Amino acid sequence: MNMHSCSHCKQRAVIQRKYEGTYLCKNHFMRSVEHTVKKTIRENNLIERHDHIAVGFSGGKDSSVLLYLLSQIAKNRDDLKISAILINEGISGYREYSLPKAKAFCKKLNVNLEVVEVEKKVGKTIDMIMHDKAKDPKLRACTYCGAFRRTYINEAARKIGATKVAIGHNLDDEVQSIMANYLKGDVLRGARLGTTTGTVHDERFIPRIKPLLNVPEKEVGLYAVLKGFKFDANECPYAKESFRWAVRDMINDLEVKYPGTKFNILRTFEKIQPALKLLSEKSVIGTCKLCKEPSSNEICKTCQLKMQVNHESP
Ligand code: SF4
Repeated sequence: MNMHSCSHCKQRAVIQRKYEGTYLCKNHFMRSVEHTVKKTIRENNLIERHDHIAVGFSGGKDSSVLLYLLSQIAKNRDDLKISAILINEGISGYREYSLPKAKAFCKKLNVNLEVVEVEKKVGKTIDMIMHDKAKDPKLRACTYCGAFRRTYINEAARKIGATKVAIGHNLDDEVQSIMANYLKGDVLRGARLGTTTGTVHDERFIPRIKPLLNVPEKEVGLYAVLKGFKFDANECPYAKESFRWAVRDMINDLEVKYPGTKFNILRTFEKIQPALKLLSEKSVIGTCKLCKEPSSNEICKTCQLKMQVNHESP
């Protein structure tokens, strides 16, 4: 049991922030998380007047906290609209539990929820693809799932007239992406990271924003628990197979031994990212000849994967 008192008052601490050398009580902790999110939004101009923000919602802790905080901001602004989009990948032991919770949460917040079924779009669920021999043995579930989710969230957001897509990436997610790109030798990909993602301006791409980017994963989880959110705490069964999972373990080990490592990785990356953006701005975006979505290749990644799992050729 934590017997320390808050560094700002005499209340019992609910968390020790080793990276800043403080203990925080429930009130100071929650106010601090809210302050960090609002500061990230303000300093990066993530929300503009008359925005319609579609939250990529999974029913997990990150997107629940994000949806809640954005709904709170929208309560005080009549020019702001919030919706939610959930991609049902068709992963058993995972999505069937989170879907009812996600629906109930949106109802409670009075937010409209769009559900997109991967099976309807691709012809197969992620589970079917992973059990099917048509899958490329070198590819992991996240390669298929990530590409489909990106495309279908963008498509659904465009359909409902959203001006931004908000995703619940926290500090840990961002730092894992930075390190994974670096370790894979794909450092230019880093140009797409940050609080507003993407380097290409194309009206078919709805800009993606990450208001939770400066909040560590553990703190997003604690905020959700202290708020009493009924979020889905299950981990996707495919997550542990991914390269990202190994990167996550490595960074978590470093953070335990050297508190502040995650923020240091992010801050260092923010210094080099403008140079990466300059290099990648030269890339031109075209149109996928099959689905007509924006793509830098003749056939976009989603259509390539879709054809592969359905044994089709262009
Ligand atoms: Fe999809 Fe991978 Fe995330 Fe599971 S861990 S939901 S397979 S991207």
